[in-house]
Amino acid sequence: MPVDRPRSVLLAAPRGYCAGVDRAVIAVEKALEQYGAPVYVRKQIVHNVHVVSELEKAGAIFVDEVEEVPHGSHIVFSAHGVSPAVVQGAADRDLAAIDATCPLVTKVHREAVRFAKQDYRILLIGHEGHEEVEGTMGHAPDRTILIGTPEEADTVEVPADEPLIWLSQTTLSVDETMETVRRLRARFPHLQDPPSDDICYATQNRQVAIKKVAPDADLVIVVGSANSSNSVRLVEVALEYGAKAAYRIDYASEIEQAWFEGVATVGVSSGASVPEVLVEQVLADLADAGFADVKVVKTAEEDLMFSLPKELRTDKSGKQDERALGGRTRA
Ligand code: SF4
Repeated sequence: MPVDRPRSVLLAAPRGYCAGVDRAVIAVEKALEQYGAPVYVRKQIVHNVHVVSELEKAGAIFVDEVEEVPHGSHIVFSAHGVSPAVVQGAADRDLAAIDATCPLVTKVHREAVRFAKQDYRILLIGHEGHEEVEGTMGHAPDRTILIGTPEEADTVEVPADEPLIWLSQTTLSVDETMETVRRLRARFPHLQDPPSDDICYATQNRQVAIKKVAPDADLVIVVGSANSSNSVRLVEVALEYGAKAAYRIDYASEIEQAWFEGVATVGVSSGASVPEVLVEQVLADLADAGFADVKVVKTAEEDLMFSLPKELRTDKSGKQDERALGGRTRA
């Protein structure tokens, strides 16, 4: 059906690379530069198929477990973090480990350790099987109970005589997490909040931006991989906040012409592990389809920076690399 309204794109900002992803990807690139290929990486360094395939081409080998890595090799732990058992497993194989865990995930690990030591029961809100959740639970395995959905908050049982705190995965839907907490607190009024937000700034900012875009969008396209929690959440949030349709894609080539039926305004965003070049390809294809007018909808500035993992701050010649890494636009 032809549309009589002008065709345009609302481009959400912030979108794409966060500081933790930038740091993790550069860590693998620098490790390859410094030690030569192959460098092993436990799990996907970040949840994006394009990033992983580019690093594979450069000589990175992705493995599921440290047991697959030859003794004495270099291994990078992914941005999602690892449990102490994985660190020990790497040490047992004499692996030179570089920890690219996002500092904001490490913060949650520290909270888990600290509250476990104080005999808290920890209710960890997160998705079963996600690497970050496995890493966080591994820091306090005997004290942590995983809560996957708001409905699980209605049935979880906890010992009555223990202090209780909730923590969370960094990449959840803010609204759904708050609903889970509301239900938990209705049953357990003594439930304590984490000392600071566990859902990270990048996840929150991308959700705020898409909430602003969604009500005006006939269609929302989120660039991000299927296993990227924060990308998948952006699609859900877009639909909750009024987008008439929303799809997640890895590449522009996945866009279907049928999606444009009756559409005048397309919202575009990308998850925290997505290089901007993939969004640029989407915008180019949208322009070809008549959506050349792009308006940026910006809801926050991001200036958080992390330094590189300590093993990579000095190169072979001893030169310091004191780069501070934010969520820069990178190919
Ligand atoms: S999404 Fe958040 S927690 Fe994950 S790497 Fe980025 S900044 Fe860190």
